[in-house]
Formats: sequence, C-alpha cells, structure tokens
Amino acid sequence: MKRRQLIAAGSAAAAVAACARAPQATPATAGTARFRWTMVTSWPADLPGLGTAVARLAGMIGRASAGRLEIDIQAGNALVAPFEVFDAVSRGRAEIGHSAAYYWKSKSPATPYFCSVPFGLNAQEMNGWLYHGGGLELWRELYARFALVPFPCGNTGVQMAGWFNREITSLDDLRGLKMRIPGLGGEVMSRLGVTQVNIPGGEIFSALQQGAIDAAEWVGPYNDLAFGLHRVAKYCYYPGWQEPGPTLECIVNQRAFDALPDDLKAIVEVCCRAINDDMLADYTARNQDALKQLVEVHKVELRRLPDPVLAALREQSRQLLEELAASDAFARRVHDSMHAYRERILAWAAVSEVPYYQARS
Ligand code: CA
Repeated sequence: MKRRQLIAAGSAAAAVAACARAPQATPATAGTARFRWTMVTSWPADLPGLGTAVARLAGMIGRASAGRLEIDIQAGNALVAPFEVFDAVSRGRAEIGHSAAYYWKSKSPATPYFCSVPFGLNAQEMNGWLYHGGGLELWRELYARFALVPFPCGNTGVQMAGWFNREITSLDDLRGLKMRIPGLGGEVMSRLGVTQVNIPGGEIFSALQQGAIDAAEWVGPYNDLAFGLHRVAKYCYYPGWQEPGPTLECIVNQRAFDALPDDLKAIVEVCCRAINDDMLADYTARNQDALKQLVEVHKVELRRLPDPVLAALREQSRQLLEELAASDAFARRVHDSMHAYRERILAWAAVSEVPYYQARS
C-alpha cells in the first residue's frame, strides 16, 4: 500500500513536472510548433543599412523556418524608444531586438567592447575576435546576467569622424563644441573639451538644424546621406577613430530562445551570422556611391582630422580604456582579451592588409 502510494505520488509529481516543462516540451514536436516573436530595434524601419538589414533578417528567418518562426518588426519608436531595446528584450516585453552593445554601458562597463571601442578593431578583426578569439563567449557570459542571448548581427565597417559646422584645424577648434557622439568616443571627446550629447540617430538632423548641437557623428556616407546631414553641416571629417568597425547586435530573450526547438535555434544563429556578413557587404558597396554624391553633387568639404588631433584622441582613448578596465572585474577580462588579440592582429595586419593597401594605391 505504502509502495503504491509512493508510486502514485511519484506519478503525480512526474505529471506536475511535465506540465511545468510544457513550454520546453515543444521541441519534441519541432516540425509543427509555430512561434511569433516581436522585434524591437534602435533604428527607423527604412533606414538604409541598419533598418533594411533588420528586415532582411526577419525575412530570412521566416523563410528558413518555413514560417515556423515569424518576426514582427516594431522598429524605432514603434513599441519602445531606441535606447530601451535592451531592457524591453531582457524583461520579455519583446522576444528579440536589434541594436548596438555600446548603448548599454550603464548596464556594464564591458558592453562597448562588443560593439566598438575607439582605436579598436576593424570589422574583419572584430569577427576574428568574436567568433574565433573568445569574444563571443565573454559576450554571452555577460548578457546571461540580463537573461539575454547575444548574436553579432551586422557591421558598418569603419565609420566617419563626423559632421562639423566649423573647420577643425587644431585641438582648440574642438573646445566648446556640442557634439552628438555616443559611447566611449563621446567620453574621449569630452576630455578634449567637447560637450557630449547622446541622441538617437533619427534626431540628429533636427538637432543640427536647430543649433542644439554643433557637430555629430552618425555612421558614414551611406547612412549620413540618407539623413541629409550634408544639408545641416558643411564639413565631413574622417577617419572614424571612434568606431573603426562596430558590430551590431541581435539580442534574444533567454526564455524565448530556450523555448525554441534546436533547428529554430540554429536558424536564428545562422541567419544572424548571414546578416553580420551581409550588412558589411551592403555598406562596403554603397558607401563609395554615397561619398561620390556627397562630394560631387552636394559639394561637401571632405577633410581628414589633423594628425595632432588624432594623436590626442588616441592617447585619451588609451587612458579611458585603461580606466574602464580598472573599474570593473568583467570589463578587465574583456579588455585584456581584446587587447591581447589586438596586439597579435597588429603583427599580422602589418604584413597583410596594411602593405596591401599601400601597394595597390
Ligand atoms: Ca557612429
């Protein structure tokens, strides 16, 4: 009797456990379970490069899964504000999001490393570090604290230094400027006397037009032309020391990801990887056309930042990154991982990309 009761109790417990596992039990019926996810992003839906890549990602996931995982894009401000994407996905308000890790420095000082740090890695090197140099493991470890699964999902390539309404001939010309420049690049600028302003990309044009800011960096010719920044600032400077190859992120709510069968998990991962590559190809192909249009049609004054300005930016960046690493144990690990990789890649770049660029010019 006692044994029977035990067995009955055991069966009941098993049944309760099975019910509790019901969402996770879905993978057993992998072929039929259907999922519809809401996706929030930090960009307008039709923004070339960023917004259009998100649309391609959603379409690709839908096709690859034969409609079993459908993504409903709520871009820009449609559901949440651009800088609320991280929290919205972390808390499960949306299952998936597309943004940039360096917007979340208030969550952890380590986040910028997974997007871009000043004078850091270019796109090709970022992919090497993330996929084969330990970077992605660190990124996953950090985001697990926030119930998020991160995937590299796009890269703009090296950006431009930004738009200015006055010429920058020396460090003195930077002092007193109000500049839209997010993340660590903005902190570096503030050490050189610039007032850092952080506003979403979609607000840059009106802020420059109304004189709320004197300068702004956004991305590069392809995106900047789309926003019409040449109509509200005269000088366009390069190179994009602040963002030499920013990785965009696709973040998935941990619980939503865990509920997927293995094949759909793989589809999310592979499609993100495809877009990571495809976005860079898009920017590489289109930046040149946009640059030509800016210079030849719109008569933009294209300038290189003077060497003494770049040298000061480089030194301030080095100091800032050291301080950042010293402020937080996890940031220290990420910083050390990236910098060890960077030292190694510099030696390779010195006999590959760098001399090749010089040789072909
Ligand atoms: Ca930028």
